[in-house]
Amino acid sequence: MEPKGETAETKQPTLIFKVMIIGPARVGKTSLVTRFVDGRFDVDTRGTIGVDFSLKNISIDVEPVSDQLIQLQLWDFAGEEQFKRLLPIYLGGTNGFIIVYDLTRLETFYELPEWLKVIGNYAFTRPLVLLGMKKDLIGDNSIPDDFKADVDAFMKKYNIAAHFYASAKTGENVETTFTTITYAILKHLHIVSDN
Ligand code: GDP
Ligand code: MG
Repeated sequence: MEPKGETAETKQPTLIFKVMIIGPARVGKTSLVTRFVDGRFDVDTRGTIGVDFSLKNISIDVEPVSDQLIQLQLWDFAGEEQFKRLLPIYLGGTNGFIIVYDLTRLETFYELPEWLKVIGNYAFTRPLVLLGMKKDLIGDNSIPDDFKADVDAFMKKYNIAAHFYASAKTGENVETTFTTITYAILKHLHIVSDN
């Protein structure tokens, strides 16, 4: 019998998924990744220049992958206009997208179609998860109904797998976001069954 800790540490990922995190500047993309990968929150983040890259292994409790490690390659893409046109260069091999807007600046949600346009065909052929960030800064009932209706329409139009409100500060729904995109990718690739 092998000692438990050793088994866990020497286990190698058997699946590798590339996930791109996109959306306007300052919505919380880098903070989302930092919270998930390092378990940390920084009040002052430096803007991302171009693209940042980090790795995190997770496992998903669903057959037949429950005992496998899945490596997420997270590509955190800068939100500024001048970087947007570079995005297509990095798209190759992307398995899924997390599309982020800022709950304290709902206008950032309305910029997302521009980002999806840049992803082009990938947007319709890869799983997408939509994320409203900075949940800790808004009241529970502060999202207007007409905004919610716009989100519903957007989700139908782009076949979005899930929508969450999340916070990099409290960690709320951060794990869930990455578990959900991973699960959606597993289904999309027919590695796990669709029900
Ligand atoms: P990015 O440009 O989309 O990568 O955004 P950043 O991750 O750099 O975050 C921009 C600013 O928003 C920083 O000052 C962060 O500390 C702050 N921020 C990001 N996510 C959250 C969150 O969930 N809650 C709060 N309160 N602030 C956040
Ligand atoms: Mg950033």
